Amino acid sequence: MNLLYLRSMEELLKQIEVYKQEIAAYEISTADELENFRIKFLGTKGIVKSVMSEMKNVPLENKKEFGLILNAFKTYTEERFERLKESFSLNGQQTAVDIDWSLPGDPVPVGTRHPLSIVRNQMVFIFKCLGFAVAEGPEIEDDWHNFTALNLPENHPARDMQDTFYLNKNPDYLLRTHTSSVQARVMEKQKPPIRVICPGRVYRNETISARAHCFFHQVEGLYVDENVSFADLKQTLYFFVKEMFGKDAKIRFRPSYFPFTEPSAEMDISCTVCGGKGCSLCKYTGWVEILGCGMVHPKLLENFKIDPGKYTGFAFGMGVERICQLKFRVNDLRLYSQNDIRFLRQFT
Ligand SMILES: [Zn+2]
Repeated sequence: MNLLYLRSMEELLKQIEVYKQEIAAYEISTADELENFRIKFLGTKGIVKSVMSEMKNVPLENKKEFGLILNAFKTYTEERFERLKESFSLNGQQTAVDIDWSLPGDPVPVGTRHPLSIVRNQMVFIFKCLGFAVAEGPEIEDDWHNFTALNLPENHPARDMQDTFYLNKNPDYLLRTHTSSVQARVMEKQKPPIRVICPGRVYRNETISARAHCFFHQVEGLYVDENVSFADLKQTLYFFVKEMFGKDAKIRFRPSYFPFTEPSAEMDISCTVCGGKGCSLCKYTGWVEILGCGMVHPKLLENFKIDPGKYTGFAFGMGVERICQLKFRVNDLRLYSQNDIRFLRQFT
């Protein structure tokens, strides 16, 4: 019996060699062919299973030796299947199994900062030079911090110009319309002297166009201390404009109205395109508006239990998009949030 079986064992070993040659030469070019290989060799009725089932007929003294051979054959087949699968999935089709790993990789391009970030960082830097600290607050704000505390009580007509998005579940919460709400939070917690700037994103219920958007960015400033005057406000903003737009930039103030300041002003700078001669950007006036400002309304100081008899303050606010437009001549607000890489690449 043994001899008989040994002869058939020899035959089986020969047969395994034949299978191995077939496996080594196996090539695939489609997913179906890969699956055919799996079924033929590794399936439940496949060749590896049937060869392994020969084990039960092997005499005891040969079981160990034969077991090793069968296991090696099984591993060989499985590894070949993995290689075929890998080469197939790399390119979506079968390619040469040998890949040159020493080839240089594709370069990963380094991105650039968003133009609004570039300008905001520059603005923050300039005011930091004057001793302003950066304050931040929530973008979802309550009515008190966004409107009422800032002298914009309910039914105040100025609220109409700052229509925003309200949270359905609780209409007392809204997306802040300006970063003045952060100034309110600072005055709530801190006693004078207060000297902060508040950069951040703000929201308005506006139809999106080249000149308006439902969100934009502001940098606002607040300085409250004893003896703060309009002259301090003027000098602070003059310093900012010179640093931002160059030594030749001029400024002018026009009287204006804001509920949170008294007196209030809007500030223009000499046109950055024509230098004051007149062009389409400045509508041939030589001036472009960049910000609103004024002396903090005494009512506001009272709202935050700061004595208006002892302290005075100034505040200003400007749009980062506006400064960016004047610096880089961006003529459409929508470009900032469209993520067009051709636009973004220009700001290296
Ligand atoms: Zn101009």
